[in-house]
Amino acid sequence: MDNTCLFCRIVAGEIPATVVHRTETTLAFRDIDPKAPTHVLVIPVEHYADVAVLAEANPSAAADLLAAAAAVAEAEGLTGDGFRVIFNTGRNGGQEVFHVHAHVVGGAPLGPMLA
Ligand code: 5GP
Repeated sequence: MDNTCLFCRIVAGEIPATVVHRTETTLAFRDIDPKAPTHVLVIPVEHYADVAVLAEANPSAAADLLAAAAAVAEAEGLTGDGFRVIFNTGRNGGQEVFHVHAHVVGGAPLGPMLA
């Protein structure tokens, strides 16, 4: 755990979050500022800065993260009409929290890109 990391602190229960899904290796909780009717963040419980670091360091955890994102989409009822999974990565990618997270968004037509 990185004590300076917001999402590590959510994993540790130090900061409250609305958890919707949990496995041994992942945690999913609602985004505090949703950009769509459904907007869930899915993270590995272990700290990795971004998806590139995660894929290089721990492919099995990366696979778990994708499986959890799919499970969240299913549980949130998004699979029929479709949804989007986004990994903002690095400064140009618009990443603000440097603990890798998949945004699972849906519940309405999203347009060509998520603003
Ligand atoms: P990023 O821009 O890094 O891809 O996305 C970070 C996301 O984390 C943003 O969508 C933001 O709304 C969300 N976020 C930031 N702080 C908190 C928080 O304390 N709790 C929750 N649940 N989401 C947060």
